[in-house]
Amino acid sequence: MKILVINAGSSSLKYQFMESEGGEVFAKGLCERIGIDGRLTHKVPGREDVKLDIPMPTHNEAIQAVLDIMVDPEKGVIQSTDEIAAVGHRVLHGGAAFTESCIIDDACIEAIEKCIPLGPLHNPANLMGIRACQKIMPGTPQVAVFDTAFHMTMPPKAYIYAIPYEYYEKDDVRRYGFHGTSHRYVSARAIDMLGNPAHSRVISCHLGNGSSLAAIVDGKVMDTSMGLGPLAGFPMGTRSGDVDATILEYLMGRYNYDIKEMLNILNKKSGVLGISGVSSDFRDLDEAAAQGNERAKLALDKFVYEVKKFIGAYTTVMGGVDAIVFTAGIGENSIDLRRQICEGLEYMGIHMDAEKNNVRGKECDVSAADSKVKIFVIPTNEELMIAMDTASLCGK
Ligand code: AMP
Repeated sequence: MKILVINAGSSSLKYQFMESEGGEVFAKGLCERIGIDGRLTHKVPGREDVKLDIPMPTHNEAIQAVLDIMVDPEKGVIQSTDEIAAVGHRVLHGGAAFTESCIIDDACIEAIEKCIPLGPLHNPANLMGIRACQKIMPGTPQVAVFDTAFHMTMPPKAYIYAIPYEYYEKDDVRRYGFHGTSHRYVSARAIDMLGNPAHSRVISCHLGNGSSLAAIVDGKVMDTSMGLGPLAGFPMGTRSGDVDATILEYLMGRYNYDIKEMLNILNKKSGVLGISGVSSDFRDLDEAAAQGNERAKLALDKFVYEVKKFIGAYTTVMGGVDAIVFTAGIGENSIDLRRQICEGLEYMGIHMDAEKNNVRGKECDVSAADSKVKIFVIPTNEELMIAMDTASLCGK
């Protein structure tokens, strides 16, 4: 089935038009500066990229621009929008209500709206994308695929916070976890690469601009590093990861920050950017560290150290590990960080093959022949998961 996959942000919208079976991508692109002026970048494999300035006061004009270019006789890839069988939307927060993807109807929209307080930055934008598609292509079925859904198998001891229980009961405060679609895709590939054993324990390391780890037993998430929101876990590009809440009170008191300013610091100015003062991009940090920048080196050391701690913790709670998967920008491309993360874990049966690890962006087994634990590099494909879910729900 030919599926249009949409990932709508507050001022941007990514799209990918693809075949759900096999994953062939016919076209993909990005609408930027929605609500400001509007720019479309459209890419078709084997052709030159197209960049157009198109006014996009709202997401409606952005979706219209995407459909227009898709049917354009020169730049397009289809004759009519009827060739789009269904639309799959990435939605950040589904709360505890969504354990899997669902067809978008009034009840689904209401449930996504209910989750806005849990995902205040993303859910409203995701809804704008959904509503724009409903308006502009009313006859085309739409599906919501939630970043949180795959994590809903966590047991209570993993998702409960040790604060008064009433906040869980009345206010839905609990660990939700994110990057679920990515963890689902790469862990399924890993289980396949392990030969589909009856019992499997996988640690999936999604290391990108935002990063999270997940402990996955027999294909089901047992624990994950992000929490109520995507700020939790280990240090990321600009996000702090877990911090002692006392820091908030201390800094807010000293500098008169309100909670918004404080959270902005933790979300946008922290992580490896905050430690290094250099960049949130790990390529810049590698370069700076190689030139002797001590803080860049400290930021990288901290990142590796914290990822290692999660690997140790997850191995313990799963009673062992069969495979460690590296994915997303850093996980797929940083040969050195993968090496550093696995270094010193030989006592756990984790042995990397340095030569095999000399790879970027390609699915492969990088563990040594005698490694008890497999180490896989698996490029993530969230769009394919979204397209597959959409096709399977709409095909029914
Ligand atoms: P993502 O959010 O998955 O797109 O990942 C983006 C991040 O991947 C960038 O911020 C970089 O830090 C990182 N990245 C991409 N390529 C490399 C590379 N060759 N070496 C180290 N980090 C990389």
